[in-house]
Parts: sequence; structure tokens; C-alpha cells
Amino acid sequence: MSKNCLFCKIAKGEIPSYKIYEDEKIFAFKDINPLAPIHILIIPKKHIVGLDTVSEEDEKILGNVQIVMSKIAKQFPEMKNGFRIVNNCGADGGQTVLHIHYHLLGGRVFSWPPG
Ligand code: 5GP
Ligand code: ZN
Repeated sequence: MSKNCLFCKIAKGEIPSYKIYEDEKIFAFKDINPLAPIHILIIPKKHIVGLDTVSEEDEKILGNVQIVMSKIAKQFPEMKNGFRIVNNCGADGGQTVLHIHYHLLGGRVFSWPPG
């Protein structure tokens, strides 16, 4: 928990969000500014700044995050043909909230390469 972190506060329920999934270590909620028909953010409750600061001790939780994303995607018929997972890391990656999070985007076709 980092005192002034927006996503730590959301995970603790101190700031309201539209919850999609929660377990002991992971929280998932709708993005406030959806960029696709389905746009969900998945975070570990542990305050990790970004994918550039993870360590070996985060192996299990980061693995679990991927399993949870797969389970969430299966619950939405809009994602039966696929979906997009995005992690923006650091300034060049476009990260605006400094608590690691994965975007689960679905319900439309996504282009590649990204902008
Ligand atoms: P980033 O740009 O860091 O990869 O993604 C941050 C995401 O958090 C953005 O898509 C933004 O819309 C979302 N976001 C920012 N503030 C809030 C908030 O207070 N509530 C929710 N649900 N999403 C937020
Ligand atoms: Zn945090």
C-alpha cells in the first residue's frame, strides 16, 4: 500500500469503482475512460510501480494476474473471438498511474502496430 496511490485506494474500496473481480491479492475494475466496449483494469493489490520495477518475488502474483485476465475474458461473450492485453510502462510506454496495471480490452477488433 502506498499512501497516495490512486489504485491502492481503489483496491481498498476507499475510492469507488465498478468492480469486476476480487480475490486476496488481485483486483479488477472498469476503466473510467473506456477505449473499447469492454475495458477492464487488472491490478495486484500489492503496490508495484510498474513492469520495470518487478522482482523475482512477484513471480506468483504476476502469473496469477494472467490467469485472472483469462478467466475474466471468458465471462464476456464480446471477447469470445479474442481480446487485447496492454501494459503501459514508464513515460515512453504511456503509463499515467504508477501502480502496475493491465488493460483488458475487448468487444471490437484492434489494429497493430499500436500508435
Ligand atoms: P495508463 O495510462 O497508466 O496505462 O492507464 C491508466 C488508466 O487508468 C487509464 O485508462 C484511465 O482511464 C484509468 N483511470 C484513471 N483514473 C481512474 C479512476 O479514478 N477510476 C478508474 N476506474 N479508472 C481510472
Ligand atoms: Zn498503489
